[in-house]
Amino acid sequence: MIKKVAILTSGGDAPGMNSAIRAIVKSAHWKGLETFLVYGGYKGLTEGNIVKSSNIEIDRYINQGGTFIYSSRFPEFIDPEVREKAKKQLIDKGIEALIVIGGDGSYHGAQLLHTIGIKTICLPGTIDNDISSSDYTIGFFTALETIVSSVDKIRDTARSHHRCIIVEVMGRYAGDLAAHAGIATGAELIITSENKKTVDEMIEVVDYQMNKLKKDSVIIITTEHIYDDINSIAKEIESKTKVETRGSVLGHIQRGGTPTSMERYLSTIMGNFAIELLCEDKSGFAIGFVKNELVSEPILKALEKPKQKYFDTVEKFSKINQEN
Ligand code: ADP
Repeated sequence: MIKKVAILTSGGDAPGMNSAIRAIVKSAHWKGLETFLVYGGYKGLTEGNIVKSSNIEIDRYINQGGTFIYSSRFPEFIDPEVREKAKKQLIDKGIEALIVIGGDGSYHGAQLLHTIGIKTICLPGTIDNDISSSDYTIGFFTALETIVSSVDKIRDTARSHHRCIIVEVMGRYAGDLAAHAGIATGAELIITSENKKTVDEMIEVVDYQMNKLKKDSVIIITTEHIYDDINSIAKEIESKTKVETRGSVLGHIQRGGTPTSMERYLSTIMGNFAIELLCEDKSGFAIGFVKNELVSEPILKALEKPKQKYFDTVEKFSKINQEN
């Protein structure tokens, strides 16, 4: 059985990464393993920024957002020579295994380390929920809470001024955050990359809702990367409908913050499961939470899974939310 395991966080930070690290460290110690923290993702790994975790007060991180071992974007890791350097850093310290918390890019890096002899396990850490081998990823629930509470506030001001507000949320190319937030806030129009709307279609909805049905506000929620500039779309809607319209890009507030209780639960059971898999000598596996159960499957298989589809659901709820 392995004796030493390292942990790194990579790609976009996500609330719950810290509670996952804590769970991994404590579960590993419980099993008699030594743990090491890699500071700064694959960049830190390649540079040998690896510290034994025994002196760190790990419990204090259970409820902190971000990742206290830092993350990085390090495209150089695509180079096999760079990965060999990273491998050497682990081998020199007698570390046989690495647990990676990150998104699908980070999964690729872990898979490649697995093929050159480092035992790897991946945990889905991304607010975007775009890792289809898990129903939910670490970070998604907290980002969703932030979006929902922000949209609730935006609705207050939209109502007070009879406005339409277009809210752009994160998610990269996945519509999970927009779909869940749109349904949870009763948005009159939910837009994801699967169900893009033209500006004319938006105008039609705003005109009908505000000028015909005399509603006091309209909220449109859209995933990022669909429109170049929601503020110019807002201007166009306003000029055609005479309804005051604004754009609101929620931005980086969606990434940070105290992880929700579901986030802490999910990241803790996943972190513990990662250690259990390593103790069973598993490598090259990705962990997921599917239908209320922890699952694991080869990283490559996890990466091939088709993304969640929301077309019918978001179309239905947009229509229901447009009803008077
Ligand atoms: P995420 O993990 O959130 O999807 P990125 O796509 O930025 O974020 O990936 C995080 C890091 O994983 C990259 O900066 C790089 O170091 C590593 N990585 C991404 N893709 C690959 C790949 N194809 N091969 C090796 N390493 C990769």
